[in-house]
Amino acid sequence: MLKGTGRPVYSGVAIGKIYVYKKAETKIYEKCSDKAKELKRFSLARDEARAQLDALYAKTKREIGEEQAEIIDVQKMFLDDPDYVEGIEDMIGQGYGAAFSVHEIGDAQASMFASLDDEYMKARAADVRDISDRLVRVLSGADVSFKMTEPGILLAEDLTPSETVQLDKDKILAFVTRQGSSNSHTAILARVMNIPSLVQTDIDIDPSLNGRTMIIDGFTGEYYIDPDDALLAKMTEKKQKAREYKEALEKYRGKPSVSKTGRKVKLFANIGNVDDMKYVISGDAEGIGLLRSEFLYLGRDDFPTEDELFEAYKKVVVGLNGKRCVIRTLDIGADKKVDYFHLEKEENPALGYRGIRICLLQKDIFRTQMRAIYRASAFGPVSVMFPMIISVKEVEEIKAFCAQVMAELAKKNIPFARDTELGIMIETPAAAIMSDELAKHVDFFSVGTNDLTQYTLAIDRQNAKLDYFYDAHHPALLRLLGMIAENAHKNGIWAGICGELAADLSLTDTFLKMGYDELSVSPSRILELRKNVIESEV
Ligand code: PEP
Ligand code: MG
Repeated sequence: MLKGTGRPVYSGVAIGKIYVYKKAETKIYEKCSDKAKELKRFSLARDEARAQLDALYAKTKREIGEEQAEIIDVQKMFLDDPDYVEGIEDMIGQGYGAAFSVHEIGDAQASMFASLDDEYMKARAADVRDISDRLVRVLSGADVSFKMTEPGILLAEDLTPSETVQLDKDKILAFVTRQGSSNSHTAILARVMNIPSLVQTDIDIDPSLNGRTMIIDGFTGEYYIDPDDALLAKMTEKKQKAREYKEALEKYRGKPSVSKTGRKVKLFANIGNVDDMKYVISGDAEGIGLLRSEFLYLGRDDFPTEDELFEAYKKVVVGLNGKRCVIRTLDIGADKKVDYFHLEKEENPALGYRGIRICLLQKDIFRTQMRAIYRASAFGPVSVMFPMIISVKEVEEIKAFCAQVMAELAKKNIPFARDTELGIMIETPAAAIMSDELAKHVDFFSVGTNDLTQYTLAIDRQNAKLDYFYDAHHPALLRLLGMIAENAHKNGIWAGICGELAADLSLTDTFLKMGYDELSVSPSRILELRKNVIESEV
């Protein structure tokens, strides 16, 4: 039996036969004798690739969703990208074959993207590779020959987005790749398709693995090849248990989230963009406790307009049908970089120009977002919260600014809800320590435990090397959490938790005891958390 590990991107257990994914073999000629003919071939290949991508776009949109289909559009853009196209044409002009030139320039651009710090740009390496492979296939007359005849586990060095969407999804029990990151498009698609998957596995991909039995444990990140009967039986049971557990949670759908002693807590959802609304509904969330609005700014090359933002917020607010939506103003900076913000490289980005600091110093960006949020507030209950607060002075400045925005809208007779709640995230030790004062100025607190933990423990949340020192239940953090809730309630405002810790079932009793009014978690965790609340004796 072979065993190893990878990074899980979607939980669950899969058991099946291995299919080693094989890219099509292609013959590439380095030199060409007729440059004009080769340039013409390249131009025709671009037309063919465009047509293929159009068909792929329609298929993806139909089968998976519009947002995922947009991945295809990114690749289409490369077909007209001057750097890419002219780079290839220049090489052909120097006497190289079209397919060879595409391969060389594609490789160079992919390495360039892969070397960038920005996660979004990094992910473009896969797109440029994907489009180059397609062009090479068209130019060399090769075709993708991979076919799955029965359900199985797909093993690949890496999978490009267009390879992923072209696969027969009904037959894929799990994806396993050697490369890839949990933010790669393939990982995103795997999550949308609810398929257990591992990336960055230590497996040697070899055709001899074809047809052998594999087990993927998407909970632990472990995999096993040629398992013995005992392990097979154990993992089959684990798989069945996972399914039964999920089914059993269904009975908590629509139930009030109240403990045995009558403590009520609202179970809200954390989402990143409008398309996640379907999970809010399927997860049975009682509202949205954290709309990470910066996701509307990522993956594009210029600022969204006020109308674009308004339409997005409105869609969410209307979709919630009267339930509350807490929109966090953009938290760009630190790990979330966007080129058109032109942020300087910083020595300590997590301690740098990010979150509310950008909004307070670049008020035009802030104004556009606040106008859009207020306009959306006319369509249902909206609360706004501000990230990375450290002082009362910042809150005063924000409130004066919001009053100004409201006055501008009122003057133009643009409808908005004047009673839109204004709250703050408590995610810096300064805000936690000053929470007694801050509570006098805002309508609510929402604790961002991801950042509050990193700043309290001085442990970079991105640095896996520090796992040994990381203690999510550190008494310093729990003390701060208790203090924050107490200070909120003393001043008559509500308090919630929207960091990952809110979903930690071993702390549900603690949070109920502290009196937290709301816990906001990933939509898929809500039913499980509700079960915990209902069974709590606190
Ligand atoms: C947090 O810091 O806990 C939080 C919810 O915000 P983010 O994870 O987006 O920084
Ligand atoms: Mg945060």
